[in-house]
Amino acid sequence: MIDPERLKLEFLNLIAINSPSTRERDLAQYLVSVFEALGGECFFDHSAVYSRSESGNLIVRLPGREDLEPVLLCAHLDTVEPTEEARPVEEGGIIRNERKGLIGADDKSGIAVIIELARTFRETGAEHPPLDLLFTTCEEIGLLGARYLDYKLIRAREGYVLDSEDPREVILRAPEAIKFTLTVRGRAAHAGLEPEKGINAIKLCAEALATLPTGRIDEETTLNFGVIRGGKAVNIVPEEVVVEGEIRSHDLKKIEALWGKIEEAFSRVTSEKGTDGRPDFSAKREEMFPQFRVPEDHRVVRRLVKAAEDLGVSLRFARREGGSDANIFNRNGITCVILGTGMRRVHSPEEYLVVEDMVLCARLLYRALTLEV
Ligand SMILES: [Zn+2]
Repeated sequence: MIDPERLKLEFLNLIAINSPSTRERDLAQYLVSVFEALGGECFFDHSAVYSRSESGNLIVRLPGREDLEPVLLCAHLDTVEPTEEARPVEEGGIIRNERKGLIGADDKSGIAVIIELARTFRETGAEHPPLDLLFTTCEEIGLLGARYLDYKLIRAREGYVLDSEDPREVILRAPEAIKFTLTVRGRAAHAGLEPEKGINAIKLCAEALATLPTGRIDEETTLNFGVIRGGKAVNIVPEEVVVEGEIRSHDLKKIEALWGKIEEAFSRVTSEKGTDGRPDFSAKREEMFPQFRVPEDHRVVRRLVKAAEDLGVSLRFARREGGSDANIFNRNGITCVILGTGMRRVHSPEEYLVVEDMVLCARLLYRALTLEV
């Protein structure tokens, strides 16, 4: 059965191996030694060429019952810095850094849970589906490992990403996000000698922005103008302003509607053009991460619900407002939900881990994976 003490000790081991984004090799090598000893087949993909990490994604195949569909379990190898000097202390069921600082519970608690599951399966000999264990690089700097993963190497079409806080919460959906760059061009002129010849790009940009909403647009949509750059000197009518921002929504139509409003507002303020074509504006957008939504009656969810019932734990369904590897997996045909591992206050100097919750995550998954649904 899941061994809470062994799980905790493994978590502490993992903390001792520093693994900031792009420098995941030591941790990956450690995991190869752990899983090979447990009968796993370990290999790396070639994502490092694109992610610029010193390691590819690590994939471990654990054999299981051949008549069952394989299941993916994923955690990311990299942590947000600084974790170099992490000195974990345990107090009242909580592990945190002795000084202020990160311990990298995001996502080493997820990795520790996956190791504990493999050890427990080995010990008990319990039947389970074939498992694809996936340890991605560079999650924290743009989901790069997941983006450049060689999906042909993954057999599973469904699974669990262990990368959230509360194991009583199953994340079934996350938004799509796009980022954009808007460039407004006016005309430069000396501000004191011939301001009439100039077109002030800052002014035009301000007029457009003033007509647009920002912040929370509705309960599933947000818009932010986050960066603005422009102008060269106080005595020059500014020629160019660049605005960068993002839109997130669980409903793709709402992203398109907002984008339409933005383009319209900037077209309007740059519509009266001189013979040189100024003012004008251009807009560029790109995806940050795709949305996902897993139905509540999907097998990945049903399995967890049943396991929670068996353990007397009440589960909640939730959504997340950010991107994670799960967004990318779902787009690539692997239906994934996100499960919490006991990490808390992640990415902040107050980060800590609730040991009991990490144990609960392992118990839930152990139960879920030994059920036939
Ligand atoms: Zn994470």
